[in-house]
Order: sequence, then C-alpha cells, then structure tokens
Amino acid sequence: MPRNGSATLSDLRERGLTTLDVTCPKCDRRGEYPVANLIARLGEDFILTAFLTDLTADCHRRIAGKFADQCGAQFLGLAGNHVT
Ligand SMILES: [Zn+2]
Repeated sequence: MPRNGSATLSDLRERGLTTLDVTCPKCDRRGEYPVANLIARLGEDFILTAFLTDLTADCHRRIAGKFADQCGAQFLGLAGNHVT
C-alpha cells in the first residue's frame, strides 16, 4: 500500500532486503545498514529519503548548498525501484 509514494523501512523488509547500502560517489561515502537495526532504531514507517537526508547532513556538499554540485548520496541495490 503506497503511502504518499514514499518507500519506508518496512518496504525493504517486505522485499526481503536485509541491508541498506548507501553510497555517495562524490564524497566517497559508503555504508551498509542492517534493515532490522534501522527498524529497531527508527521505526518501520521511517521514510527512506528522510534517512538519506539525516545520513548526509554532514556532507560538505550539502552544507555548501550548491545546486550545481549537490551531494550524490543514493541507495545501492534498489535500481529500478523508485524509493524517492
Ligand atoms: Zn555527498
């Protein structure tokens, strides 16, 4: 059941994903987050894009706020699945 078109942590679990991979090719950021841990910490209705925003809050590109050179953080392994 779509909720405003925004995927949540519970959607990952329903797809059978156990880890959420995040990468930012511009900042060399890379992280793997166990879905079960995220749900325990944030709740299953937590929206993925909000997680990404939280995660990259310290990204210097995001802080600089340059529209021409934005942070490129994205989820890996969700290609073809719109999570935004
Ligand atoms: Zn970045």
